[in-house]
Amino acid sequence: MGLIIECRNLGMSYAAGTVRVLQNLNFDVQIGEFVVILGRSGSGKSTLLNILGAMDLATSGRVAISGVALGDLIEAGRTQFRRKSLGFIFQTYNLVPTLTVAQNLQLPLELNGLAPHDKIEIMLATLGLEGLSARYPEELSGGEQQRVAVGRALIHTPQLVLADEPTGNLDSIASEGVLTLLKALSRTQGATVVMATHSADVARHADRVLQMHDGQLIEGP
Ligand code: ADP
Ligand code: MG
Repeated sequence: MGLIIECRNLGMSYAAGTVRVLQNLNFDVQIGEFVVILGRSGSGKSTLLNILGAMDLATSGRVAISGVALGDLIEAGRTQFRRKSLGFIFQTYNLVPTLTVAQNLQLPLELNGLAPHDKIEIMLATLGLEGLSARYPEELSGGEQQRVAVGRALIHTPQLVLADEPTGNLDSIASEGVLTLLKALSRTQGATVVMATHSADVARHADRVLQMHDGQLIEGP
């Protein structure tokens, strides 16, 4: 094992420090863990994921991913980190609407200079979407779109997958399917997952739950 995320005294504020959104967060995540950040709307979950994904910079404290402090990276380094080491899954799927399912899956491979080989076919089979490779996102159900998004987040075998309310727009059956898929695929690849949710039911899928209240973390059962 080993650590993938080290978060020390992390804070985030807006409006010149007058609005404090995250306060003094301290936690570690082990390589391969499936961790859920559970908290109500507005508690700071998305803010935290955006910092872990190097999309935003914290205003205080330190986050290191695989020993590299994100605050020390220049923009090019952050871009490279996001492209190579990260997969991101959003509540609203965020597939590219003008690309087919297969082309959406191909994007992370292309961005990393990886030849597709048979990866796309294998991923389509893993996702249970073999027949849908030529469809466009708008021709899929929400659950199918999110399965494609899970595949897109993992196809370039990133170290870390961040999922922000990935089942927020899905019914309970589609949610279970997406969560089971995300868990199985990340486990197979040895990827670490940090998933934000407001749902205790969704949090049951986690190895470990971190509860967030008003920008502060409580390690829960
Ligand atoms: P969650 O994802 O748990 O719903 P967020 O991280 O989106 O919570 O938001 C946490 C808090 O930070 C909210 O009160 C939100 O209004 C505030 N917030 C988020 N972004 C900004 C911003 N750019 N400027 C000021 N406040 C913000
Ligand atoms: Mg959010």
